[in-house]
Amino acid sequence: MSSDQDLAKLIRDVPDFPKQGILFKDITTLLKDKDAFKKSIDLLAERFANDHIDKVVAAESRGFIFGAPLAYLLNAGFVPVRKLGRLPAKAIRAEYTLEYGTNFVEIHVDAIEPGEKVLIVDDLLATGGTVGATIELVKKLEGDIVALAFLVELSFLKGRERLKDYRIETIITY
Ligand code: 5GP
Repeated sequence: MSSDQDLAKLIRDVPDFPKQGILFKDITTLLKDKDAFKKSIDLLAERFANDHIDKVVAAESRGFIFGAPLAYLLNAGFVPVRKLGRLPAKAIRAEYTLEYGTNFVEIHVDAIEPGEKVLIVDDLLATGGTVGATIELVKKLEGDIVALAFLVELSFLKGRERLKDYRIETIITY
């Protein structure tokens, strides 16, 4: 496993998922390859080795796959952002827009201390809408967002433009 191109080859295109006209980037074919999974995590972790990250924040469920091992390697805590009603203790919520209707995500109120350095992680950046809700939650808790990290970026959907105020690190770009 030598390059980002080798990793990209392991991502499977699934036409018409979850609906007609969408070409879904299926990362499970990369995740099941032991060398590729390790390489993906190591490449992401390298980018933040000198950033003194306190907390890695990731949204369920694919964000957890990358967020937890990154937190471990960076010596940071892991904070889950979850769908509505899943967190057991006091939480705050943020709303985000889907193609049809809206959705909510939540974070525990005591998950981040003001000023802590936060890295937000997800598997894939498309329009940036999903990560926007996580950003909102971290800002409400006064976390200091150091960067946003994704394994895959679909650049034609222009998420980077929408999130231009943030440092964004990605490994594979389409
Ligand atoms: P966005 O909110 O940036 O438009 O969409 C990104 C979110 O949707 C991420 O949480 C990601 O998991 C999911 N997503 C959207 N399109 C794809 C795709 O083609 N492949 C994968 N693996 N996830 C996607």
